[in-house]
Amino acid sequence: MHEMTLTELAKGLKAGDFSSRELTTSLLDRIERLDGELNTFITVTRDQALAAADAADQARARGDERPLAGLPLALKDIFCTRGVRTSCGSKMLDNFISPYDATVVEKLEAAGMVSLGKTNMDEFAMGSSNENSFYGAVKNPWDKHAVPGGSSGGSAAAVAAGFTPAALGTDTGGSIRQPAAFCGVTGLKPTYGRVSRYGMIAYASSLDQGGPMARSAEDCAHLLGAIAGHDLRDSTSVARVVPDYLAELDTPLSGLKIGLPKEYFGDGLDPEVERAVREAIGVYESLGAKVCEVSLPHTHLAIPAYYVIAPAEASSNLSRYDGVRFGHRCDAPADLEDLYKRSRAEGFGDEVKRRILIGTHTLSEGFFDAYYRKAQQVRRLIRQDFLDAFDEVDVLMGPAAPTPAFDLGAKKDPVSMYLQDIYTIAINLAGIPGISVPAGFSGQGQRPIGLQILGQHFAEAQLLNVAHQFQQATDWHRRHPSLEQETI
Ligand code: GLN
Repeated sequence: MHEMTLTELAKGLKAGDFSSRELTTSLLDRIERLDGELNTFITVTRDQALAAADAADQARARGDERPLAGLPLALKDIFCTRGVRTSCGSKMLDNFISPYDATVVEKLEAAGMVSLGKTNMDEFAMGSSNENSFYGAVKNPWDKHAVPGGSSGGSAAAVAAGFTPAALGTDTGGSIRQPAAFCGVTGLKPTYGRVSRYGMIAYASSLDQGGPMARSAEDCAHLLGAIAGHDLRDSTSVARVVPDYLAELDTPLSGLKIGLPKEYFGDGLDPEVERAVREAIGVYESLGAKVCEVSLPHTHLAIPAYYVIAPAEASSNLSRYDGVRFGHRCDAPADLEDLYKRSRAEGFGDEVKRRILIGTHTLSEGFFDAYYRKAQQVRRLIRQDFLDAFDEVDVLMGPAAPTPAFDLGAKKDPVSMYLQDIYTIAINLAGIPGISVPAGFSGQGQRPIGLQILGQHFAEAQLLNVAHQFQQATDWHRRHPSLEQETI
């Protein structure tokens, strides 16, 4: 059961091949047996999961036909879950039991889904390797010397390891797509505003967006349909009808216009990644798509602009962690200032502190115009690049990350880590949706490679269709790492 997609599991539940309790128990047992080394979960909520599974089974027996009822999933530990620790990968929130549920959590529960627990992540979603977690690094199930990517590394690795058929992640600069690529799963970052951020702990509010990670585009379509939509509690969520994402999956691709941004195939791209991505594009040509080169001329400015905007917003968002209301508080503070200083010094890790320093600097008087305003202007140009490209083509394609998963500990220098997001960050700055689908492996170490597909604002149905058609023609997404053999 641990290799089945959500869609297949839903059929099995419906046919009575197994109950949600049986399915949930088998996954919980698998997590218990194999997650010690991988470290994909921060908190496993066994009792709540079994209770939710029983409730779904009972509802089904009474005739409940909600399509997702009884299906398990895992939540990145950035989503607030009532009565359950919500740590955001930080010592700061190690003792934080959320008093409320994020909107997406409410929605998935209302759909009858069963949460298995909270997955590991880079602290406050800052990172590209999951090595910045207070709870320790996550290992890539395909190769335990490799990182799973980040910051949603726990979610991606948990899906790849067969602990859960699906998970939620968040993506501020690549944190769904890059770990999906590194772990060989499918991950969708929706359009900014498509999915409510209420109850999703804020990193950089103008960039953060939650989305699904699963074994197939079809499964992502199921999940996106369940979590998307307007939310009165998030003023940046968009009041726009949520389409039936499953309805368009089978649309044929003949005549689809694919643009290959020339900036995404230049220096720094690993040859094995390039080969896999170009082969995937060949598959699209055989499905009737037309391919041409396009240009996104401001691509080189995306990382610099992001590393002004994201830390600025982070420094403001993280000011709430002061040791007073919730989260870590230092012992025996001498006075209020000591309480603030020591609680924050003890509660935050190095990367978070680095971002707070950068953000506070760029927002300070005298630097605001030079850095923050400038970066916002660059952001506008980056967005325009995409809009211009979409005048010519339907979707854009390229690699999700410049290399396959790298070794644990390999990137000590923060800037080399930041460069990981070279193909993903501009998408967040522009607010458009992007999906990463498995498209091959590197020869050495059998590490997965992801193809990234980008669409216009709110074109998720089209992206899912384009990804699904690839998955009908290939079986990269059906490969699984052999965990048991290695551990037994
Ligand atoms: N790696 C990027 C960062 O560290 C993006 C992280 C994310 O998308 N949450 O900020």
